Amino acid sequence: MNKVILSFDYEIYFDGKNDYQSLIDNTNNILSIAKMHRVKCVFFIDSYYLIQLQNVNLKAPYDAICKQIKQMQAEGHEVQYHFHPHWVNAVFDHDQQEWQFDKSEYSYSDLVNRYGVQKANEAFETGLKIFEQICAYKPIAFRAGGLSVQGAEQAFIDVLKQHQFKYDSSVLPQLTIKAKYLNIDHQSAPLKDQWYIQDSFLNASQHATDLIEIPLMKLNHYKGSLLVKLWTSLKYRFLKSIESKRKSKYITGKPMDLQIQSFNYPDSITFDLSRTAELIIMKRYTMLFFKQQRQLLCMIAHPKSMDQTAQIVMNRYCQWLSKKAYKVIGFTDLN
Ligand SMILES: [Zn+2]
Repeated sequence: MNKVILSFDYEIYFDGKNDYQSLIDNTNNILSIAKMHRVKCVFFIDSYYLIQLQNVNLKAPYDAICKQIKQMQAEGHEVQYHFHPHWVNAVFDHDQQEWQFDKSEYSYSDLVNRYGVQKANEAFETGLKIFEQICAYKPIAFRAGGLSVQGAEQAFIDVLKQHQFKYDSSVLPQLTIKAKYLNIDHQSAPLKDQWYIQDSFLNASQHATDLIEIPLMKLNHYKGSLLVKLWTSLKYRFLKSIESKRKSKYITGKPMDLQIQSFNYPDSITFDLSRTAELIIMKRYTMLFFKQQRQLLCMIAHPKSMDQTAQIVMNRYCQWLSKKAYKVIGFTDLN
């Protein structure tokens, strides 16, 4: 049976503004859509943010977010762990009401290079601990902030295994981003539904291991029709969620400027910043994906980048999924 995971990275924009309200509002709309179509969503919770909210005594956002996480769980959605290391040493400027980040601590490997494996793991564990406290749940799936898993892969794999994670979902095959503060090269990743991770997130191990990669949706090479070519802009949805300029009351933030020099975003789908016309291509890509002998489609989106139009797209796409009898599942439903 063809299965779909609708995953959302639950986080604010990293422009320093502490705009949690649009995260809450957009997520409320996502939850309503999910309820209407009885689909399960997976929320990867950026929990280190919550530690910093506590540290600087910002009680209102902390309470609102914890309440929403409880609601997600009560409504049958999954919460899993998302770790953005740039929160670890973030400072809040109370006069400006803004966060200040050290961009050179964007990835886990940055922490390893600067402070060593032990300190990097302590940060990972601190975020995990508050996640477990708030959710009263031990997560089984992980997503790295910015999909950044390279640089200190073995240490990263070890810490995931040590905490009994069963799944990683941080690989988007063929994605490359070269930036001053981020380097991603997922070109060598297999085009498979899942694989065992041994010593690299990007290689399929020949032997069974305790950690499985569930990669993000990437369509195999496809010579598109004119229609498809017309809508190739879809490919850049995810990057636009990093570099959004669209003005909307639903999208109030800006991404962290990582100084991107070049990128290649593969043929994929997401709700982020999607336009209603793109629904056609999302459906088409989904059908093509399943025709390519694939059975598990894992989609990534971000509530922060889900404006009103993107919410309409999600609504219609979910309606279509149930019409096509594609089963929407979470990581706990695998195997
Ligand atoms: Zn993230």
